[in-house]
Amino acid sequence: MSIDSARIVCTGCDYETYEVYRPIRIRYQTTNGRAIETGCAKGWCYDCASYSDIERMNQGELHDELVSKERERLEARHHQDELNCGFLSNFRHRSEKRQLQYQLECLNEEIAELGGLLEIAKSRKPKARCLKCWSDRTALLTFDSESNIAYDFKHECGGNLQIIHDHSGPRINFRVSTYILNEEGEFLGEE
Ligand SMILES: [Zn+2]
Ligand SMILES: [Zn+2]
Repeated sequence: MSIDSARIVCTGCDYETYEVYRPIRIRYQTTNGRAIETGCAKGWCYDCASYSDIERMNQGELHDELVSKERERLEARHHQDELNCGFLSNFRHRSEKRQLQYQLECLNEEIAELGGLLEIAKSRKPKARCLKCWSDRTALLTFDSESNIAYDFKHECGGNLQIIHDHSGPRINFRVSTYILNEEGEFLGEE
C-alpha cells in the first residue's frame, strides 16, 4: 500500500515538516474490561516541538462530534421512516433504502466509539498524549477545509500551521499499527 503525503508549513516562520498518513489505530483497554478502538488526531507536541499524531482525547471536540453524529442519525432514521411508509414502499427506493441502512450501521458504530471515548476523556487526568514521546503537553490541530490553516493553534513565532496537499513528500509504505493504551493513555503494548 502506498500512502499519499503532504507538507505542513508555518505561516510565520520557516518551520516545515512532512505529513505522512501513517495508519495508526488506538485500542483503549479499560479497567472494567472494555476495549474501544479508534484512530488518532493531529496536533502539536510541545515536548517534541513538532507536529505529531496525538490521542483523540479532547472532551469538547468529542462532545461536538457526538452531538452532530446523533443529529445525522436522527435525520437518517426519519428519512427511513418516510421511505417505509406508503402504498408503494416495497417496490420503490430499494437502493436508497439499502444505502440508508448501511449509513445507519456506520453511524451506530461511530456513535458507540465516540461515546466510549468521551467517557474516558471525562474521567482521566492527562490531556491527549503525543504518540511519539507520550507527553500530554499537546494542542489539537484542526485544519480549516478551505484555507487548510489550523486556527486553533499558534506556533511559537505567532504564525499558524497550514497543510499543503502537493504530494511532494516521500511516499512510504507502512503497515497498520495498533497501540494498546489504558484509560490514562499509558502505553501497554503494540500489535
Ligand atoms: Zn512558526
Ligand atoms: Zn511528543
